[in-house]
Amino acid sequence: MSSDNSDKNVIPFASGLREVTGARPEAEPARPQEVVCQICFGTGTRLGTDRDGTVRAAICECRRVNAKNKLVIAQIPPRFLKRSFEDYHPKNESQSFAKNFGRMLVEAYPLADRGLLLMGGVGVGKTHLAIAILRELIEQKGATGLFFESGSLLKTIQDSYNPISQTSEMRVLAPVYQTDVLVLDELGATVPSDWVRDTLYQIVNSRYNNNRLTIFTTNYFDELHIDESLKRLKNQREELDNSAYSSGRVEALRELDKRITRLLSRQVLEDRIGTSLRSRLHQMCKKIPIFGEDFRKIER
Ligand code: ADP
Repeated sequence: MSSDNSDKNVIPFASGLREVTGARPEAEPARPQEVVCQICFGTGTRLGTDRDGTVRAAICECRRVNAKNKLVIAQIPPRFLKRSFEDYHPKNESQSFAKNFGRMLVEAYPLADRGLLLMGGVGVGKTHLAIAILRELIEQKGATGLFFESGSLLKTIQDSYNPISQTSEMRVLAPVYQTDVLVLDELGATVPSDWVRDTLYQIVNSRYNNNRLTIFTTNYFDELHIDESLKRLKNQREELDNSAYSSGRVEALRELDKRITRLLSRQVLEDRIGTSLRSRLHQMCKKIPIFGEDFRKIER
């Protein structure tokens, strides 16, 4: 979304949104009534008989059909539709930690009291992991879910803004507020403006107050992680510099220098999304930094 996304639209849009959300959580739009399966009565388990006549508990077909529908509704991008924990192969400790934490979150759900903020450079697998969590929560825990690239969500909300009613359409807003699990990918990717910050704050705050799980991914770190990363890269560089000559050494040193320079000029997440939203995220999320190189480059 470009920055000229209109300071003209900013104020009415943001205030319209506030009107809609200001009444929450009391006036939350009603959820559609769910139809209870007449085979498992909503338990998700039915009794089945094996070929040898043994009676066993089995997953009810309604759960499978529901999960399929919910996956469609979740709007997971097609190229990520099959991503799972099994095909995420950690390359370092931070990646193993992120994967294990994701699995624990799925296990603990719906008791997880905090969301997740996956922070890291491009291609370390943040979206992959966020989708693996979302998929398992839908397929195994019967949750409803939605995937959105943050910029396109904000654009969709803005496009649905009606200047007469001074609100954005509930058709667009309601699922974002109400879905059990929301993945907001690439937080901070769009050029921040007041309305972006305001809108995100409203959504995030409302979901937090209503105990709904939100998983964020961002390419931006906090100050602390940039320092950590720099230290790590400088150590790697020093080791390589002191090592015996080998083919590819000069190339590897050059690559490390590039990464160090890039890191030194990086903005932090707070610069992108503002102090209040950053501190809200701090309260409501487990923050997981993921380090490493772009997986697509390593695997090439
Ligand atoms: P990010 O969101 O951090 O920019 P992605 O999740 O989009 O990165 O990952 C880019 C591509 O690399 C995707 O196809 C993803 O499945 C793959 N990928 C990244 N890390 C891993 C990993 N550790 N194991 C397997 N595939 C990975």
